[in-house]
Amino acid sequence: MMEQIVHSDPDCLFCKIVAGKIPSRLVYQDEELFVFHDIHPWAPVHFLMIPKLHIPSMAHVAGEHAALLGRMMALAPKLALQEGCLPYPEGGFRMLCNTGEQGGQEVHHLHMHVMGGPRPWLKG
Ligand code: AMP
Ligand code: ZN
Repeated sequence: MMEQIVHSDPDCLFCKIVAGKIPSRLVYQDEELFVFHDIHPWAPVHFLMIPKLHIPSMAHVAGEHAALLGRMMALAPKLALQEGCLPYPEGGFRMLCNTGEQGGQEVHHLHMHVMGGPRPWLKG
């Protein structure tokens, strides 16, 4: 069975980043969202967008989270340009949510990777 959604998990790396217990390079935050640079970037621009709420993965998303995730998606293009991605269509960016073991998820706090910038990239 899947675990219940708690507001914050004291053992979760990304909850610790939101709480400022582990340092991060901040891109943006508001009441609901926290955005920071990936520590091992694949691309010239690579940041992670997370809800402050500890939702373990996309597999845990329910209807009540639709507005939150909608806000996250709507914010991504603006932050991508701000962080140096070139405009669409020549530039652009990639949005990626790894989910579960076979989906390649390593940190179990829902996050959306946003990657962009001139190729080649390290991965992706
Ligand atoms: P995933 O495989 O989708 O779970 O990705 C987890 C991502 O978190 C990886 O790209 C890591 O480089 C990144 N990451 C792990 N620890 C940190 C950290 N302390 N600060 C920023 N990014 C991190
Ligand atoms: Zn968490």
